[in-house]
Amino acid sequence: MAELPPCPQCDCQWTYEDGALLVCPECAHEWSADAPANAGDGEATKVWRDANGAELADGDTVTVIKDLKIKGTSQVVKVGTKVKNIRLVDGDHDIDCRIDGVGQMGLKTEFVKKA
Ligand SMILES: [Zn+2]
Repeated sequence: MAELPPCPQCDCQWTYEDGALLVCPECAHEWSADAPANAGDGEATKVWRDANGAELADGDTVTVIKDLKIKGTSQVVKVGTKVKNIRLVDGDHDIDCRIDGVGQMGLKTEFVKKA
């Protein structure tokens, strides 16, 4: 009898085959014997793109392409403002950054272009 791999969830040795699947009797985990053990969680890697479709990365410098009102203030981030050392985030905005004279703020990628 072929040696079956241990359960990837709980390391149980007593796994058995059920059709195309392997099944763990300890934690009831089922998985495909064909899938590589380190196949990640299947989540696509998010890519951030600027207004021109260029890929953005942490630490990039971008330029604001539209006057942006800062929430809760009368301040505006003017077109052409350079924003250094951006940090990409996955939230209600896309970029965390510090702007001179403004401070910490969040930006949307569609309002910037890579400098
Ligand atoms: Zn298990």
